[in-house]
Amino acid sequence: MKMLIDGEFVDKDKRIEVENPATNEIIYSVPSGDAGDINEAVSAAVRAFRGWKKESLERKRKTLLRIAGAVRENADELARLLVLEVGKPLPEARHEALSCARVFEEFASLDVRDEIIRNEGNTLVIASRRPLGPAGLILPWNYPLAVLAWKLAPALLAGDSVVIKPSPYTPLNALKFGEIVSPLLPQGVLNIVTGGDETGRALVEHPEIRKIAFTGHVETGRSIMSAAAKNLKRISLELGGNDPAIILRDFDMKNLQSVFWSAFRNAGQVCIAVKRIYVHESIHDEFVKGFCEIANSVRLGNGLNEGTQMGPVNNPEQLGTVERFVRKAEEKGGKILTGGRRKEGKGYFYYPTVITDVDESVGIVAEEQFGPAVPIMSFSDENEAVERANSLPFGLGASVWTRDINRGMSIASRLEAGTAWVNTHMLVDHLAPFGGFKQSGIGRELGEYGLEEYTELKTVTVKL
Ligand code: NAD
Repeated sequence: MKMLIDGEFVDKDKRIEVENPATNEIIYSVPSGDAGDINEAVSAAVRAFRGWKKESLERKRKTLLRIAGAVRENADELARLLVLEVGKPLPEARHEALSCARVFEEFASLDVRDEIIRNEGNTLVIASRRPLGPAGLILPWNYPLAVLAWKLAPALLAGDSVVIKPSPYTPLNALKFGEIVSPLLPQGVLNIVTGGDETGRALVEHPEIRKIAFTGHVETGRSIMSAAAKNLKRISLELGGNDPAIILRDFDMKNLQSVFWSAFRNAGQVCIAVKRIYVHESIHDEFVKGFCEIANSVRLGNGLNEGTQMGPVNNPEQLGTVERFVRKAEEKGGKILTGGRRKEGKGYFYYPTVITDVDESVGIVAEEQFGPAVPIMSFSDENEAVERANSLPFGLGASVWTRDINRGMSIASRLEAGTAWVNTHMLVDHLAPFGGFKQSGIGRELGEYGLEEYTELKTVTVKL
């Protein structure tokens, strides 16, 4: 597979090897793009922007629908690549491929609207949304195809051209997407340069890139923000989370599976996974017991095998991070009730891990661990639970679980998070704004709010 620059598929001698995290086999190697490739891709995007920004909304919408159709036609192949390079079970990978198509369809239903602010006497004032210019889209490895869609669909609808930089761990599905979709777009509107962090840095520092849309770690977000300050690029940053789930005393135990899989889907490598659970003391022991039973029954394995419920951790660095957090929790008095170790043999498998007897002074509670481990803590008073949930610098998602919907909604309104759920978690509506409070991000993705991030707001005042 090759990079896509100015409508051409480009290869390089220098390569990045892509490993299957379930088998440790090198499955492919892809070109390792450098600053020179970024320069060429940005020049192509600058040229293509001149034409794409003038296209009618109707043509752009049709293009999004064609892209969605092409992704649907190739969903099986994209899903297989997602399993191979991310490690997730095939049904989840298929769901991601189809949700990529769905995002293009949802954006195709949106408008880039002008708004009349005043029309009085002989004065007409209009606020209009203009395309921003060439945008750099920088992707993580956990939901590479979904995150690509969340960024590319609004960029194209707004009239922006793009340069995409996928994660070096998971570049395959983006390159395949490029092969599938490039015939549907004018030359240079979509460019994809694979490479490591340096390649991302070159994109952020490029003076002709007008906006960076980034998803990844808080620390990387910080350095992107400071690099973007040099020429005041627009930025949207979708960063790490450390989502709390608050389980009230009237929790319906039928929802236990739902809480469990909100913590362990994609082996816990989801920005909006439940990462710390606060359970009312009256049901703590029953909750923990049921939770561990589910953890012990999880079928851990290669995502291509039928019946696999949880795949490996994506890469050795991430696995090392999870192991460190669990070990430190244990050193600080945490009890590992289940899991807490790798599965022997090939692959970066780690058993679903449940920890108790920890609090916010322990790293696994206070920081983003991003893997298949979850601490469960008890509380006696709802206000205390809300305070502890809000006490960290993260604010991506949070949930409250109760039979009393009004109570749930009242608590949800007090949670400091970009998305708050009642009796569910991780449920994302593609038309609703998505993003983080506090250090979980800047800006919003999805829906009209997400679309606006790819436009510049212009006021036109007319004396009639
Ligand atoms: P990461 O920050 O290590 O890397 C993300 C991307 O940034 C990669 O393509 C990488 O090559 C590139 N990059 C790294 N340093 C860079 C720099 N200085 N300048 C420009 N680009 C650079 O993140 P990751 O490990 O790929 O992803 C996991 C993280 O992503 C977790 O923190 C997770 O919570 C977060 N995430 C957030 C959301 C969200 O919507 N908020 C969604 C998915 C993942």
